[in-house]
Amino acid sequence: MAHHFNNYIAGEWVPAKSGKTVENRNPADNDDLVGVFPESGVDDLNEAVAAARSAYARWRKVPAPVRALKIQRAGELMRERKEEISRQMTREMGKVMAETRGDTQEGIDTAFYMAGEGRRLFGVTTPVELPSKFGMAVRRPVGVAGLITPWNFPMAIPTWKVFPALVAGNAVVIKPATYTPATVCDLGLILEEAGVPPGVFNVVCGSGSTVGEAILGHPGVDVISFTGSSAVGRRINEVGGKNLKRVSLELGGKNAQIVLADADLELALEGVLWGAYGTTGQRCTATSRLILENKVHDKFVKMLIDAAARLKLGPGLDESVQVGPLVSASQRETVHSYVEVGRKEGAELALGGEFYVEGESKKGYFYKPTVFLGVKAAMRIAREEIFGPVLSVLKVKDADEAIDVLNDSSYGLSSSIYTRDVNLAFKAIEDIEAGITYVNGPTIGAEVHLPFGGVKDTGNGHREGSFTAFDVFTEWKSVYVDYSGRLQRAQIDVGA
Ligand code: NAP
Ligand code: MG
Repeated sequence: MAHHFNNYIAGEWVPAKSGKTVENRNPADNDDLVGVFPESGVDDLNEAVAAARSAYARWRKVPAPVRALKIQRAGELMRERKEEISRQMTREMGKVMAETRGDTQEGIDTAFYMAGEGRRLFGVTTPVELPSKFGMAVRRPVGVAGLITPWNFPMAIPTWKVFPALVAGNAVVIKPATYTPATVCDLGLILEEAGVPPGVFNVVCGSGSTVGEAILGHPGVDVISFTGSSAVGRRINEVGGKNLKRVSLELGGKNAQIVLADADLELALEGVLWGAYGTTGQRCTATSRLILENKVHDKFVKMLIDAAARLKLGPGLDESVQVGPLVSASQRETVHSYVEVGRKEGAELALGGEFYVEGESKKGYFYKPTVFLGVKAAMRIAREEIFGPVLSVLKVKDADEAIDVLNDSSYGLSSSIYTRDVNLAFKAIEDIEAGITYVNGPTIGAEVHLPFGGVKDTGNGHREGSFTAFDVFTEWKSVYVDYSGRLQRAQIDVGA
């Protein structure tokens, strides 16, 4: 029997008021029903926001180090359940077990990091211009946080948002991606067991067009944190902006790896295979462009094609598999349509470009690792996010041209350069337009205690993870205490 999941509202596990449900199936095996989930409506969301508002009044009064202890406990529970969470996640969205364990671990790391922040949440004290007067700025919660998350990191991305929001004293309503609600429901069970009070954390499963949209204009939501596509991000910024909500957006990428002629080519090869085909290319930080210096182009392309052709495809539950399925039939159609675009634009299809349908894989949405050669910067396959195992190779004459080509993109999330020349590496760090640059590492592999996010169309200037998450989930309050016993006038009693 399929597992029936519910919404988590005001500390109760409840179905959608309408009684409607949706099924979720394993993208590697359509016969495998992962779960049945509520298909919520606006009234479910309204109830969750009301619960959050009322819980917020009490939660914000709990001292931050005490709030943090609940997150610490949640991290411990996640660690105990890491294997079962990761297995379910592989069934839910397809990526291989090594990667879902990494996804869960990222949630655990974030829990412990953010639990520590409960004893910091540093503010500022500074001298003031008047005598017998004290000045400081402290962080306060924003209120109710509305969180909207994508399916590709079902645990890591929700926890990047949920844990700092809760440690800072906000209440939360989260709408998980329709493809991956199970992991977020499990996070609800964990937070409940960790002792987070009813109403402080609420889960409403449902579609972006219904539940997501309702969050954007809801007067009870103070801050919206969204990770997903740039198209939906634009919409969220428009509606959220009109309602004067704080909006944090983490959006798409078209990330490139540069390989210069002096690079360790074996290392660069491992990097691009992991960057381009890990998570079947469905990462915001996936390597989607490979920029090769002319002198090593032909040699490296041969190495790449030999190695990419040998990657093992199959269900992610099989530990020997390297590349799982795409998340859905429609995602596979989108990827395939980009392959057609690339062909029509005149790029050379050197590997893949088709469904993988051998044996049992017919029951899933597998796509062969794909390489396009001779790609020009103006082509759509070099500009648009494909979100699949498709790598576009561009040839350049030197390091300067490589950086120019890398920067010729509307996105600016992650980037990578392989070189053994320290001068060129630092030049790249200085000139690459991206939120993240790796030297001699692939475009993926962020750690939770450094800021995460991008420039240009990748976002609106916020950063997740690390201490910067609190710029999203706290408001500053400046406090002045005058202990002089008389009226003192700033800018008037003291001045030039
Ligand atoms: P998406 O289609 O933009 O959806 C993201 C979330 O927004 C889902 O929960 C979706 O609900 C919801 N949504 C859709 N339309 C909405 C609306 N009108 N109002 C409010 N919410 C709405 O993205 P995705 O396909 O899930 O994820 C892939 C994208 O995420 C890629 O572009 C990728 O680059 C990006 N991403 C970025 C980062 C980063 O940190 N920069 C990290 C990971 C992924 P449904 O599930 O019901 O559609
Ligand atoms: Mg979507």
